[in-house]
Amino acid sequence: MIIDSHVHISLYNDNVKNLQEAFNLFLQEMEKNGISGAIIIPDNIEGSDSIVDLDKAIELIGDRKNLFLLGSLQIIQRGSSELEKYKKLLEEGKIKGLKFFPGHDPYYPTDERCLPYYELCQELDVPVLFHTGENSGDSDCAKWNDPKYIVEIAKKYPQLKVIITHYYWPKMDYCYEITKNVPNIYFEIAAMSDAEVIEKSGGIEKVREILRETIADRSDKVIFGTDWPMCKIEEHIELIKSLGLSEDLESGVFSENSKRIYKLSL
Ligand SMILES: [Zn+2]
Repeated sequence: MIIDSHVHISLYNDNVKNLQEAFNLFLQEMEKNGISGAIIIPDNIEGSDSIVDLDKAIELIGDRKNLFLLGSLQIIQRGSSELEKYKKLLEEGKIKGLKFFPGHDPYYPTDERCLPYYELCQELDVPVLFHTGENSGDSDCAKWNDPKYIVEIAKKYPQLKVIITHYYWPKMDYCYEITKNVPNIYFEIAAMSDAEVIEKSGGIEKVREILRETIADRSDKVIFGTDWPMCKIEEHIELIKSLGLSEDLESGVFSENSKRIYKLSL
């Protein structure tokens, strides 16, 4: 079984005309690549015609039992004021965790406005997910999501499941070293098979080495994700398959870890 734990429903390179078509295309991609379930990450900007927000995602998903959502916070615009809204969504199971976008938005993971959300997620035993690393064509933005801040949060909230996505590319070695001894840090691998990410991070062998070491250290804490449609699902599947993992470890990464960590009923 494969679960893609990092997907956006968006218009990308004019692949489709509208968000309904983007969603339909994703369903086809799931089928084609043997994906049994997925976590869709809505954008934190609401009402866009080019990427789904939470309300639109809920509408598109309808009754499907194999598609799940995260909440995407607007820390800059709304601070901690949406705590009650997200508490309710988490308690009702409409979302499975909260996503933070430091680097897309100018704030640090240690920003005071974020703290009430971390407390909430620790209390409800649901994960937080941090976008990390550069954005394509913008290396400066990575200063906002340096894993040193994420480590601070993980230590301040030792029961909180803290997931890092994109491995702080291109500084994967640094991210590995600084997080190595922090038990409540998890990794989700979206974009790690992207050509630009691989090239800037030191090549495919470097990426494989980082993944093998991370899986050896924390086999139950590495999660499969892709960042579709910006990145290709099949290339991420190939990347994991190329690691030469045992069947047990591979199924952990492909599905079991995500099911357990995000509490997905699949
Ligand atoms: Zn993403």
